[in-house]
Amino acid sequence: MDKTIIAGPCSVESQNQLRDVTLALKAMPEVTMIRAGVWKPRTRPGAFEGLGEPALGWMRDLANEFGVKYCCEVARPEHVELCLSYGIDTLWLGARTTTNPFMVDELCQALRGSQAHLLVKNPVCPDVRLWLGALERLQKAGIDDLTAVHRGFSMYNNHGYRNAPLWEVAMELRHERPELPILCDPSHMGGRADLVGLLARAAHQLDYDGLMVEVHPHPAEALTDAAQQITPQALADVIAHWASMPYPTSVAEAARALEPLRSKIDDIDHDLISLLTQRMAVSKRIATVKREAHMPVYQQARWANMMNDRLRQATSLGLDADFMKELLEKIHAESVRLQIEG
Ligand code: PEP
Ligand code: MN
Repeated sequence: MDKTIIAGPCSVESQNQLRDVTLALKAMPEVTMIRAGVWKPRTRPGAFEGLGEPALGWMRDLANEFGVKYCCEVARPEHVELCLSYGIDTLWLGARTTTNPFMVDELCQALRGSQAHLLVKNPVCPDVRLWLGALERLQKAGIDDLTAVHRGFSMYNNHGYRNAPLWEVAMELRHERPELPILCDPSHMGGRADLVGLLARAAHQLDYDGLMVEVHPHPAEALTDAAQQITPQALADVIAHWASMPYPTSVAEAARALEPLRSKIDDIDHDLISLLTQRMAVSKRIATVKREAHMPVYQQARWANMMNDRLRQATSLGLDADFMKELLEKIHAESVRLQIEG
């Protein structure tokens, strides 16, 4: 298996906890590196906020004793300097950091001239430009060894996940930067131990380069992110499933089977575009009538009726209501824009 598996606790909590988890993960040949958070400013204050520098000392000692590699989150220039001084040169930018170009810039200054490998988590909000921007800033600072980490996005409605996956945002990143490896962090995405395997499988099907998973020797006692951490044994199960997921036996055969289906999709997409063009043309004619009658462009009652009617049809045909609602809102917004600007 040529996938990268980064696993380890959300936070270092004690020397024993780090030692226990290190021994368990060292015994798993698929585990590439051990993650461990040392600075943990929480979304809301008052909880355990990490052990700081002493934990880096334990990481250095255990790395020497067992020949393992650790990576750590950095959010301040001092964190970069401290990690590097303890021999930890794989560092990650957390979602809150990637969101803030001021912080990314400060970290870039501290990283300049180092040989660090940087993992860049997606920003908290689904703005692919912030993610790309952080990667570009690091590259400008001479950091070329970069990996993206998709951990999901904080939305008003996360559809049962801690952070909504929005796979399409990560796909956009992959489209822009196809050469960059991308890992999935199913722990922060799902926020629940029982979702880790499911999300890991989804990432496998989307051909991600690996996983970053939170693993704790006793998840129920974890001081941070207890609900989403899994035991080393559970990680072994996730990896076994991941590794045994079947790839097509013959890529050529699969490509042949896909060809007619892909050509159908192409035709349907072209029809959709043609229908949308027709819809927008009618919308512009409506704009003229409204303008002449001094009617406002936005008609709340008509829009509510349309939405109900379309949602009823779509759900009766088996389409997802949330997806349909979002799509209709997009089409309607574009229609309103054309009527206003048209
Ligand atoms: C973490 O990895 O422990 C963490 C805080 O992640 P994120 O930045 O994805 O919230
Ligand atoms: Mn965490």
